[in-house]
Amino acid sequence: MSSPLIPTETLTYGTELNAVYAIARIVAETFDTEAGLDAVFRLARTIFIFDTVALYLENEESEELEPSYARALGRGRSREEGLTWGEPAAQEAFRSGQTILRKEDAGPSVKERDRRRDYLGLPLLVGGRTVGSLVFGRFGGPSYPAEHIRLAEFVAWHVGQLLENRRLSRRVANLEAQRELTRMQDEFISTISHELRTPLGFIKGYVTTLMREDTTWDEVRRKEFLEIIDDEADRLRELIDNLLDSSRLDSGTLSMTLELTRIAPVIRASVHRIKGAHPKIPIEVNLPDDLPVMQIDSTRIAQVIDNFLNNASKYAAGSPITITAGKHAGKVRISVKDEGPGIPAEHTSHLFERFYRVPGSSNTRGTGLGLYISRKIIEAHGGEIGVKSTMGEGTIFYFDLPVTDFDETEAGGKT
Ligand code: ATP
Ligand code: MG
Repeated sequence: MSSPLIPTETLTYGTELNAVYAIARIVAETFDTEAGLDAVFRLARTIFIFDTVALYLENEESEELEPSYARALGRGRSREEGLTWGEPAAQEAFRSGQTILRKEDAGPSVKERDRRRDYLGLPLLVGGRTVGSLVFGRFGGPSYPAEHIRLAEFVAWHVGQLLENRRLSRRVANLEAQRELTRMQDEFISTISHELRTPLGFIKGYVTTLMREDTTWDEVRRKEFLEIIDDEADRLRELIDNLLDSSRLDSGTLSMTLELTRIAPVIRASVHRIKGAHPKIPIEVNLPDDLPVMQIDSTRIAQVIDNFLNNASKYAAGSPITITAGKHAGKVRISVKDEGPGIPAEHTSHLFERFYRVPGSSNTRGTGLGLYISRKIIEAHGGEIGVKSTMGEGTIFYFDLPVTDFDETEAGGKT
């Protein structure tokens, strides 16, 4: 579609021509619609007179016109007044697709000359479709002469272009967001496939080896292979559980079963599990006697403590581990401290994100889900999770859970 031609004889060389060019330039260069409209109307006001201007756009669902922009540039009219007064002209221009001029009388409550209202309604075309309308209001006459109506049509055409620019840039942004989503999904699939293939590869390899008919394995070797298969199957199950947990936690479909629980036995059970897996690990356990009874999902809280202990045993291998619980200011803090290599400061704020692993952790197996799941579990309890780490000294992972005062005897059976 071409721009409506402004007959050159109607332009006073100088101001008008400059304004017309400036409007065209703004439209070509601006992607900020609001700022673009402000600039266009400011310039428009140098070539024809209006007191208010309002833009109405069709709501695609309701198919109703809705005000989307308004300015009062003359005679101090408020925006709202401009909007209601402009509505009939906006509707008429929108429905008919024609420029319309409405003359109204504001009634005896308005003083003298100001009673007279002229509204110029112009349809707005975007990509050949009428998407709304633009209304210029002038109070107290004189009415719009033909040249001014032409100029207003020129402005309306350019406003349509501004809206088209906005539509296009939104489409580009949408496409980019979709591309980013696809990229993240691809990355997710490749991370997960890689992690699932590793244990599966071991299992398949050792099973094939055991099944070979040309070789017989002594009992010791057979047991060794079966243990590897068993471990790798556990790893596979753990990975799948973690994946399911993380997606359920993300969609809010993983429910917590909160029950009055004593935390000390939960901690001791986790310590017992890690000692089962790593019998030589030096672990110190500090549990005061006065730990309160807490409203928690003990299986999920145990999962967080297991994660902390497993991480310490993996990333601070050989270091002593200290697990401490204590009550401060209405909260219980549980922390797991190691004396490992520490985590560089630039990574600590990302550790609780999904799939985040400190670069260089690749020689240790993991998917970067453990701490993400832990954070979600603690947040579901209304608590807070955190980390403090000093390079060369070690790392402390901790979480705080709120304490509500309960009758201690209620949880008596759970100790
Ligand atoms: P997953 O727990 O899903 O099997 P992961 O252990 O890599 O895999 P997280 O538990 O979320 O994932 O830990 C994220 C990263 O934080 C780890 O990859 C590791 O780089 C770092 N990290 C965690 N705990 C420690 C620790 N105690 N000392 C040093 N680095 C740690
Ligand atoms: Mg982990």
